[in-house]
Amino acid sequence: MRSIIVHGGAWDIPDDAVENHHQGILEAVSAGWEILHRGGTALDAVETAIRQMEEDPTYDAGRGSFVNAIGDVEMDASIMDGAALEVGAVAAIQDILHPITLARRVMERSEHVLLVSEGAMRFAREQDIPFCTPEDLLVGRELERWREIRKIPDYSGKIAFSGVPETGMNAPGDTVGCVALDERGNLAAGTSTGGTPNKYPGRVGDSPIIGSGTYALNSVGGASTTGWGESIMKVVLAKSVVDGIELLDMSPSAAAERGISQLRDRADGYGGVIVLDARGEPGVAWNTPRMARGWMNEKMKEPFAAV
Ligand code: ASP
Repeated sequence: MRSIIVHGGAWDIPDDAVENHHQGILEAVSAGWEILHRGGTALDAVETAIRQMEEDPTYDAGRGSFVNAIGDVEMDASIMDGAALEVGAVAAIQDILHPITLARRVMERSEHVLLVSEGAMRFAREQDIPFCTPEDLLVGRELERWREIRKIPDYSGKIAFSGVPETGMNAPGDTVGCVALDERGNLAAGTSTGGTPNKYPGRVGDSPIIGSGTYALNSVGGASTTGWGESIMKVVLAKSVVDGIELLDMSPSAAAERGISQLRDRADGYGGVIVLDARGEPGVAWNTPRMARGWMNEKMKEPFAAV
């Protein structure tokens, strides 16, 4: 069954941002579904849906990314082809609107899995990936948010992800991700992010780490995660969810719930995960106040989106 699932972050999404998140998810699901519907590949569907969200300033990926502790945007992304177990990822890159496309180039045109910072950008230039200015990625909302965050003593992104009111601040976690299954039975998954607000320069989160942010294996399923990366990496969340399907014979929903329970219980973490099994059945779970998510498959008449 052709199938696609998308997320646009899990955190305490404020009421006035719900509509934009909802709309953006619908557009990303529709863009990816269009590819699958025409007989395109899962990889193309994942890249297309994520590019759509990287362009949308609503999300913390590409345009709209967070600002780090020295006022720069640094982004991470990864993509995985569940047919060939091929992976590509980039971390701490700057001035590129579509990190997911660069991650795919690493997968398809280099012998490596993960390139970071200057080396990744050098590779981007060799691959004729277009560069943009820092201003193209930095939206006023994020500069404003960064200035506010800098005023809070002992600010921690982890606390803010949970929506705990005493922080007086909601840290957005608008990372984007997608998992797709095409008509050939191939699964792909991808994730793209500007990371967490006010992160230390050079900080790399879970999103470009295969197994934590992204995982896909044709015979079992695929997953993409969002949330507090420092906790997600400790429970290798994406692979743990896929393992729930393979080793415990769980439904995608049950496997997603189990993964989020482990995130909370073992690593005191907050976040969300989307998953498809090998038949294209979707699953989603989160332990933050809200999660932006949506999906479409051959059993449905129109795409579903919710925040
Ligand atoms: N997981 C991302 C990170 O820690 C942030 C997010 O999902 O919003 O970099």
